[in-house]
Amino acid sequence: MTQNHSNFKRLTNETAVTFAKKLGLINADASLNCKEIGDGNLNYVFHITETDTKKGIIIKQAVPYAKVIGESWPLTLKRAAIEANALIHFKSYCPEFVPQVYYSDEQLAITVMEDLSHLKIVRTGLIDGDPYPLLSQHIGEYVAKTAFYTSDYHLEPSAKKEVARHFTNPELCRITEVYIFTDPFFEELPGDFEVELTDAAKSIWNDQDVILEVAKLKQSFETEQESLLHGDLHTGSIFASETETKVIDAEFAFYGPVGFDLGQYTANLLFQAVTRNGPGKEEIFTHLHQFWNTFEEAYTELWNTQNISPFRNVKGYLPYLLAKFKRDAFGFAGCELIRRTIGLSHVADLNVIEDKESRIAAKTTTLKIGAFLIKKREELDVPAVIDALKNHTLPFYSTL
Ligand code: ADP
Ligand code: MG
Repeated sequence: MTQNHSNFKRLTNETAVTFAKKLGLINADASLNCKEIGDGNLNYVFHITETDTKKGIIIKQAVPYAKVIGESWPLTLKRAAIEANALIHFKSYCPEFVPQVYYSDEQLAITVMEDLSHLKIVRTGLIDGDPYPLLSQHIGEYVAKTAFYTSDYHLEPSAKKEVARHFTNPELCRITEVYIFTDPFFEELPGDFEVELTDAAKSIWNDQDVILEVAKLKQSFETEQESLLHGDLHTGSIFASETETKVIDAEFAFYGPVGFDLGQYTANLLFQAVTRNGPGKEEIFTHLHQFWNTFEEAYTELWNTQNISPFRNVKGYLPYLLAKFKRDAFGFAGCELIRRTIGLSHVADLNVIEDKESRIAAKTTTLKIGAFLIKKREELDVPAVIDALKNHTLPFYSTL
């Protein structure tokens, strides 16, 4: 669908300040500071603060192309409205873990929101070794609530379909379909990896069992409409401190399989698990337990107390569903682990390892776990994944 961009105008530091003043969200008489702080690929992020009070707001603006790739990959501006609407939806179900949206403008592709600069992006915090004693419980609760409240177990099915219509997000889904579910699994398609990983990459491409399972996972991503997902729930989309957690960057939101959000968060904890040793590694295992335990407990509580389905008390239904979420999640996590290693978008967790041998070893382990999760997802649970990581009993690619 083509979009009319005639009213779109890219903000500058100056026009961002003027805009904030006009909205009355910042003291127009104060001395103000404005800085573009976006580190993502797709958008500009302006941080406007009152110099004296340090009180701030954030203006995020989408541009009609991927910022880094340039104008060759056009992208709908509608994603800004999707992001603002998704944040508003998620906040209504889970107020403590989502930033406040103050204003949004679909034509200008702008979302004005709460300034979270007192928190740190979790990927950076984990790399720095910061403790996050509540993070995984918070994210477990966040996923349980957003997954349950936006599903057919809470919304009337026709109302759910109406919500889903507003979150049809084909262009952003395409990014996931190409970069997570397709390119990393074919030698002839675009990729990016260190030459020392060539054999490990070939082991994935040549493993027809992996490729078949990825085809099934991709199909699930493309066709299932279980709940409104965040769609990009990695540790770079989460701001946190020891006590507070906020999930940002919801532009990939769409109706999809619940396991996708669960799997992305799980995979991004696993990057840390492979790079750490000793107590630091144990800490990540604790995160994995806390995340999954909290998710299952919170989802079960919602199921038992707020489920509108006539089938809610049928013995075995909830365990069936929780097992499905977990199976899907491990599969999706496996795809994320592989694409961040040999696909086009890497993660700092692995790339910050300076020593080449250690870095290649960590990336090789990541690929092995990825394939292991994809192939074995039917029979895995968190303890089994942790065991495999601890004992290096990843049974595939033993020749690597
Ligand atoms: P993109 O979609 O382009 O990746 P993000 O929403 O992830 O954009 O934002 C990019 C960066 O901008 C974040 O990593 C963070 O540093 C900063 N940022 C985004 N939203 C906020 C906010 N509400 N408060 C403070 N900083 C923010
Ligand atoms: Mg983004």
